[in-house]
Amino acid sequence: MPKPRMIEKVVTESGNECQHSSSILSDQQNNKAKPVVVRKKLVKKGLKKIHPFHATNGKSKASSLDRLSNSICKKAKINGKLSYSTVQSENDCDASSSVPSLASNFSGEELDSEIVQIPGDEESCSYITEEECDACDANEDTPLNISSDKTEVFQPALRFSAFSGVPPYLNFCLHDEKVVELPWTIRRCLKWKLSTITPIVVRKTVVNSGFRVIKEPKDWIGTWGKHMKSPLFTAILEHQKVNHFPGTFQIGRKDRLWRNMQKMVAKFGNDEFGFLPQTFVLPHDLRLLRKQWSRSTTDVPWIIKPPASARGTGIQVIHEWSQLPRKKPLVVQSYVKNPYLINGTKFDIRLYVFITSVNPLRIYLFENGLVRFASLAYSTEMNTLNDLYVHLTNYSVNKHCEGYVANEDANSCQGHKWTLQSLWTYFLGLGVDVEAIKSSLRDIVIKTLLSVAPALNDMLKNNVSNRYSCFELFGFDVLLDSDLKPWLLEVNISPSLHSTSSLDLSVKGPLIKDVLNMARFQFPNNVNSLSKHHLGEYISTHFKERMCEASAGSDEGSQYCVNPSTYNYELSEEEKKKNEFYETAVQRVVAVPNGNSWTVQSQSAEIENRVDDVVEESTILDNLTRGDIQHLIETEDELSQSHGFTRVFPADNSERYFRFMEKTSYYDLLLNEWHKKFGNLRDRTLAIDYLKTQLEKKQVLN
Ligand code: ADP
Repeated sequence: MPKPRMIEKVVTESGNECQHSSSILSDQQNNKAKPVVVRKKLVKKGLKKIHPFHATNGKSKASSLDRLSNSICKKAKINGKLSYSTVQSENDCDASSSVPSLASNFSGEELDSEIVQIPGDEESCSYITEEECDACDANEDTPLNISSDKTEVFQPALRFSAFSGVPPYLNFCLHDEKVVELPWTIRRCLKWKLSTITPIVVRKTVVNSGFRVIKEPKDWIGTWGKHMKSPLFTAILEHQKVNHFPGTFQIGRKDRLWRNMQKMVAKFGNDEFGFLPQTFVLPHDLRLLRKQWSRSTTDVPWIIKPPASARGTGIQVIHEWSQLPRKKPLVVQSYVKNPYLINGTKFDIRLYVFITSVNPLRIYLFENGLVRFASLAYSTEMNTLNDLYVHLTNYSVNKHCEGYVANEDANSCQGHKWTLQSLWTYFLGLGVDVEAIKSSLRDIVIKTLLSVAPALNDMLKNNVSNRYSCFELFGFDVLLDSDLKPWLLEVNISPSLHSTSSLDLSVKGPLIKDVLNMARFQFPNNVNSLSKHHLGEYISTHFKERMCEASAGSDEGSQYCVNPSTYNYELSEEEKKKNEFYETAVQRVVAVPNGNSWTVQSQSAEIENRVDDVVEESTILDNLTRGDIQHLIETEDELSQSHGFTRVFPADNSERYFRFMEKTSYYDLLLNEWHKKFGNLRDRTLAIDYLKTQLEKKQVLN
């Protein structure tokens, strides 16, 4: 890994405090209290690469500069006094630079930060090495002090489950809010591992939520990095969480995505799974492609892509066989030549999809997203095919076009980037059936993930020992054709979270807050007894009603730390029996259409009888086991944090999807029944009361 490169040194006015971007921004706006060296560099380095929009719009420039800045602060001793200087590591400075290597294996989408590198005094101070972290430990008076944009907003540092006895969750605030500061002996344990691609919005969120972001920590709780090779997941400790599941490259690579989808098309037909444009993976499919090509009498455009790249890199639209490169692996895809046009230009949609669990499968779709436009008017003329500004919608491509117009306003339908909510508003104005489009999008998301669920399950079983360890945010890119039919173009397993504009930030800030809260981080259990003790004291002072007893023989305060045994995969005898019973009895049932909905039906009379028995005598929700209760608590606690997300699986009519699952697991069945009984509406009173009663019953019995 390249060594951080000092590009400038700024001793902040606050001495041993590190300034936060926001405070510096206001200085910048007021044009005062700013070290001269920084102002010079802003002019010299920052502006020269700034987007044309910024250059011509002085007003929005300041806020963009703040968001775009990518600097980090480094603690140093100056004149014997602890102080902070701003450093910029090459990797961090230009996250895109780290991406080609990532993208060459796993797709990474456009990384917007590429557009501007600004000298580093505006980003939050969040980056220290483990040695410096130790120094901090030794000096309790000088922890990082990070101010917030919304100085008045202080969120609680801890969040509690709806159920008693569950250790508290660490509360993540927005990137421009701040949580109440925990005592240092507690906070010192909150370490976030910095990776070369950790996006700024993630860093800001975790720092403002009380974490220290550390380059090579000895121990850590969370990290946001590249996808790892599957065996590396075995090294995750039981109190750590990473932002990937093993095996998701099965949809993150364009060639794998197609292969997985092909299997589903073969099994279930084009009507169900034909939402990916027909694709050929070369060299393997060369003859098939030739055949297909020779069938068409007129010129037909094809789009060629490297199998695992991002940001439009290496993409071309071609129409002649001779244009096809032969030497390297390639994905050749049928070009959707009738895209839906707005103002005469093509656009695609970025959806954010979040998986919190693979077994049971829990999929969430973010209500907002991005709409990215090509910068020149669309044309089907063959002589325009090599004009990427006409045919590609990547921001990283179109930003270079002179005609590209940025849009800072999350609510307006102008310029070449909109929020998804603005698109829906625009469509509603035209009388378009937005709900129908949303429903097709949900369908695509669920089916795509179902196509890899068996592979993910296998990878998890083999490489991850604990349900606590993984979560993953995906970026789905979708194109609407002129009939408003959505086509899936690709899935990104490291979607860009770079926030170059207030529009980006308005989507990605809340997105990351929700993601981290739904991932449900808890206090690590391997910290020293003093930290645990102080955690216990803090809870008894600030959350008296949430106090609970430590189990016999364990440290005071350990009851408030993550309890790995609740997340392991082991089943008791009672659980094994119940799981087996429902899996075998209900496994062979199928979903069949019933009017407008779907009903689960068994395939044979014998099974039918068994299912009927099950239904008549008891349901899966009666006599919940400890494991059932634990899964349902997790599901409810997660749902309570899903503000901007909607759970799309399990959801209404999820049974319709059972037939696409290689195996409907016991926990999928459990959650589906839970959903049928209690829905996923915001008011959880009934669900929580039911679960509390079951929990009490269980405690009385034991
Ligand atoms: P990358 O990962 O490099 O962004 P994509 O597959 O997303 O690659 O393609 C880049 C852009 O090319 C898309 O945003 C879209 O505008 C255009 N595109 C990709 N595939 C197709 C297709 N099959 N038909 C029409 N346009 C496409």
